[in-house]
Parts: sequence; structure tokens; C-alpha cells
Amino acid sequence: MQKIVLMGECMLELRQAKDGVMNQSFAGDTFNTAVYMKRLFAQQDIAFMTAVGQDTISQQMVAACSAEDLNNQYVLAKSDRNPGIYLVQTDEQGERSFLYWRDSSAAKQVMQYVDQGVIDALCKTDLFFFSGISIAILEPQDRDAFWAMLAQLKAAGVKIGFDPNYRPRLWNGPDEAKAEFAKAYAASDIMLPGVDDFKQLYNIETLEDILAFCKPFDITELVLKNGPESVYCQLADELTHVAITPVTNVVDTTSAGDSFNGVYLGARLAGHDVTASVELAAASAAIVIQHPGAIAPSNAFDTIHSALVQN
Ligand code: ADP
Repeated sequence: MQKIVLMGECMLELRQAKDGVMNQSFAGDTFNTAVYMKRLFAQQDIAFMTAVGQDTISQQMVAACSAEDLNNQYVLAKSDRNPGIYLVQTDEQGERSFLYWRDSSAAKQVMQYVDQGVIDALCKTDLFFFSGISIAILEPQDRDAFWAMLAQLKAAGVKIGFDPNYRPRLWNGPDEAKAEFAKAYAASDIMLPGVDDFKQLYNIETLEDILAFCKPFDITELVLKNGPESVYCQLADELTHVAITPVTNVVDTTSAGDSFNGVYLGARLAGHDVTASVELAAASAAIVIQHPGAIAPSNAFDTIHSALVQN
């Protein structure tokens, strides 16, 4: 059994149905990744790391982690703040819009509850995964503590995984994001960006330009996602291309990249090669985008499960 920790923010998701009823669930990029990894690789010890408060929504969030069989050891429940919330509204044309209340969420304070005991436990794990959102939401004065923690994990031999997931509104301008991302690239053993992240932040989008951009950071495994177009994976110096079969009835693309990440990383840790891992991850993401919301029902993965068991 391997130990994987994914750090970030999980929020209360409110989804307005046609009759005005609010359906509630929990979601957030690294949380979604953890859920999908655990769904397909139940044998692994997968923990979501965040800070929550003592309010009832925080308690429900912890219960949601438990319901997905995630290890709650790193859900640090000492904050006097509440979880962030977002509201998804769908207009008559089916166009979705998002409203966020996350500026003072408990998750922003996570580093304030990370003591040396927590870091020592993290040092015994196999993979630590975070995203651009995980660092964007941290209180700026806590970021040094985050990078110092990451350096300790790396020195202890923990593999570091990163998905930039660039969200402009969470940063005080692109230069701040670029400076923080550069530290993440330098620390990463495995990185799973979307082409969009590079396009928005650096105005580059061709495979050649992105590979050239990443080269100085010496990232062992680079997985480049480009929606239904393709996935490229560079492992050491070998480049693999995997074609994606586009889904014709896309319902909601929320969490496509997150589910891809969870299943890809889970598959790699379970010993699958790059191509098989991309294929499993892409098949899972294709299922996720045919369901509304970030977290698809667990029985939606039955066919993938059986294929995994047979292999
Ligand atoms: P992100 O959500 O990070 O922007 P992408 O949009 O690149 O990520 O999607 C992640 C993965 O989801 C893709 O690599 C692909 O496997 C799958 N995917 C996304 N859109 C489609 C689609 N229309 N049809 C089939 N698969 C898709």
C-alpha cells in the first residue's frame, strides 16, 4: 500500500436546480482528484489535506471525505473559519456560471496548523500532490512555510506532483502566479498541466514551446492535457502521444482534468505504464464529463473497475 496526500481546498458546492432547489455537495480540484484516485485504486492510502473549522458544514465535509474512504489524518480541524462555498447556476441556454465565497475560508489557513509532527508524517508518504489553486488560496504570508515544508518532503524522498490549474482571479496578477509556479515546477517530479494553463499565463500553446519552457525545470514526468485533442507524456526523454476519443454528449466538463489526474497518478503508482495510465485516466474523465457536477456517481466507473480487476 502506498501513501498519497493531496493538499488543497474543498468547498460546499450549491447547484441550483430548475425548480430553484439548491442541491449541495462538496468539491474542489485536489479533493476531486483524491476521490477519483481512491475510487479506482482503493488499495492505496489516499489522504486529503486541508483546514476546516468546527461548524456543521466543516463536519459534513469531513464526513464526505470519510464517505469516499479518504484518510482524514491531514484534515486539520482547528480553524475558527468556515469552508468556502460556490454556487453553480445554469441559464436557459445551458450556460453555467459560478459565484464564489471563499476569501476567508478555513482552507486558506492550512499552513498555520502544520507543525513539525505533521511534516514528519508527510515525510513518510510516497506522493504529495498540490495544484496552482492550493497555493493561490494560501494566505501570502504562509507561502514560505509551504515551500519550506515541500523542501523537507522532497529531501525525505517524497515524490512531488503538481497541476498548475491557473485561476487568474485567485492571484494578485500574473507575475505573482508565475513566481509561485516557478517554485512548483522546480520541485515537481511529475506535472500534469493543461495546455490552457500555459496559454493563459505565458501565451504559449504548442507542444514544442511548452516542452522547451519546462525543460530547465528537469521534471521527470510531464503529462500535457489538451481536452479532447490529445495527451502527450514525456517520461525522462521519451515522448508518448495518446489520442483521445471525443465524447459526443458532454454534460459538464467540471473536474475532467481532476479525475484524469487522480486516475493517472493512481495507475502509475499501481505500476501501469504511461500509455495504459493515460488510457485509464482518459476513459475515467470521459465518464465524468457525461455527468453533472464535479463528482460522478461511483457506479459510473463499474466498467473501468472490472477492466482493472481483470488485468
Ligand atoms: P482541464 O479540466 O484540466 O482543463 P482538459 O480539458 O484538458 O483538462 O481535460 C482533461 C481530460 O479530460 C482530457 O485529457 C481528456 O482525457 C478528457 N476530456 C476532456 N474533454 C473531453 C471530451 N470532449 N471528450 C473526451 N474526453 C475529454
